Amino acid sequence: MSTDSRTKTEHAVQGISASHGIAYGQIFLYLQNDVEVPSYVVDAGRRMEEIARFEQALLLTRQQISKIQDEVEKNLGSDEARIFDAHLLVLEDQALISETIREFETTARNIETCFDKVSSRYIKAFDEIDDEYLRERAGDIRDVAQRVLHNLLGQSATNLSQLADKRIVVANDISPSDSASIDRSQALAIVTDSGSKTSHAVIVARSMKIPAVVGVRNLTSRVQDGDWAIVDGYEGLIIINPGEQTLFRYGQIRLQKKGFEQRLMDANREPAVTSDGVTVSLMANIEKVDEVGQVKEYSGEGVGLFRTEYLFLNAARFPSEQEQFVAYKTVAEALAPNPVVIRTLDLGGDKPMAGNSDLFPKEDNPFMGFRAIRFCLENTAIFKDQLRAILLASTHGKIRLMYPMISGSEELARANAILAECKEELRGRGQTFDENLPVGAMIEIPSAAATADILAKECDFFSIGTNDLIQYLLAIDRVNDRIAHLYEPTHPAVLRTLKYVIDEAHRQKIPVTVCGEMAGDPVFVPLLLGLGVDGLSMTPPLLPAVKYLVRAMSMADAKALAAEALTLSSPKEIYAKCDAFCRARVKTE
Ligand code: PEP
Ligand code: MG
Repeated sequence: MSTDSRTKTEHAVQGISASHGIAYGQIFLYLQNDVEVPSYVVDAGRRMEEIARFEQALLLTRQQISKIQDEVEKNLGSDEARIFDAHLLVLEDQALISETIREFETTARNIETCFDKVSSRYIKAFDEIDDEYLRERAGDIRDVAQRVLHNLLGQSATNLSQLADKRIVVANDISPSDSASIDRSQALAIVTDSGSKTSHAVIVARSMKIPAVVGVRNLTSRVQDGDWAIVDGYEGLIIINPGEQTLFRYGQIRLQKKGFEQRLMDANREPAVTSDGVTVSLMANIEKVDEVGQVKEYSGEGVGLFRTEYLFLNAARFPSEQEQFVAYKTVAEALAPNPVVIRTLDLGGDKPMAGNSDLFPKEDNPFMGFRAIRFCLENTAIFKDQLRAILLASTHGKIRLMYPMISGSEELARANAILAECKEELRGRGQTFDENLPVGAMIEIPSAAATADILAKECDFFSIGTNDLIQYLLAIDRVNDRIAHLYEPTHPAVLRTLKYVIDEAHRQKIPVTVCGEMAGDPVFVPLLLGLGVDGLSMTPPLLPAVKYLVRAMSMADAKALAAEALTLSSPKEIYAKCDAFCRARVKTE
């Protein structure tokens, strides 16, 4: 520890808040430096031995990764562990191995040099691909290549298990194998230069319940190992070398937040009823089977959105009907008698499935491309496997089926016709299912919203996907940082569309929920409820704050807020009204 680092000037750096909480401590700067690879010529008589050494290192690496995979499976669950399948596949990549041997045979340089050269070429090629998913594969190859090189050189790879005392981990990124080895008792917070929403650091920090901030560009080159820092996971701030005043202020904030979070958790056991007696259904969004634990921990009344594509994304092949049946049944049984809304595959576009570039070719406009129901209607064998699995699970709990990205009634009719075929097939097999399985549509494309009156006659429920609905209504790419400030959930166009969809659903006497991110943001909750939505579905840890607000407000006030918002033209003014409504009812001190 260098005490004089505390005398350096205080400065704050902004990143993206990824996991809530506040931490204070010294930085452990984790730089995954490339291994120093010596280069020399191997004598002709020792060439066989050199190849054997390479094979030995590949074998050792495979054993190490399998071990990590087992540990991750134990600690984080099988979905997380599946990430390492991609790493094991790198080790089986015949092109990578045979090119290394060919390089060795032509240059006679030591095998480390040859492997480093070939793997670097692969990493560079993947890095340059204009596709976020494939670029992430470069990270997998880099991770595995470093491990192989360490093994060839007889070094042990540096990893995060070497934290000598409690530290804030600052890294360029946290790879899956880093996260597996991280010393959970010693990491105070995680901060990374990179800022992908799918960042592994985020998943790990949330599961460890420690603060995390991502996307703090170049932070690793701006701090030193041992610097003192505050990580504010609420605001996405890193304060380096904080002075006494800042430390005092954060000490107070930390106490306040802890007290407030405890109050939220206490209130979370109570029912979600407004002060004037209206019950609101608060459900959870999940991506994996093992998240049912969190749904219960945060008292979610079932699942309002099960994003089933996450069962597929990192899988080595399409999960079978039986495998999917087990997943859906497990969730339904765990949460019965509460409902579980299973959304059929929203694969494709920005969520292609690994190693299936033939089914998911690169597209210029992935968000408006070949995804979700469009993919399923053209790949009926895959779609039918999923529909049969959902039908079969429907006798094991309260399941509802929902189609994503429906654009109009013909698409809905085609999906329902395939569902009818699946029912017929199951009857033919003598298998039972819920004959009255409720079927709903996500309303997330403007054309679906504009024809909500027609769709409502054909659906048992609606769930509004505000994430996509806003991006399409306002023509704002939801993942483009440059225009993020224009993504305004309180735009009058959004409010009018929501009102129309909700009113048409209610005219046909079907319930309507919101499952986009708006539903979990307390600022928007009174507005959505005032507009008439029957339920909200969100990431489980957001449930306590939303329930607290629901219990602190009256539906009459929420309706007045929505009615006033509908008369206003400025998104900022509407936002300010919503914000003031929320602040007046929830005191965080
Ligand atoms: C949405 O679009 O609001 C939604 C919930 O679906 P996803 O975020 O999975 O696209
Ligand atoms: Mg969507």
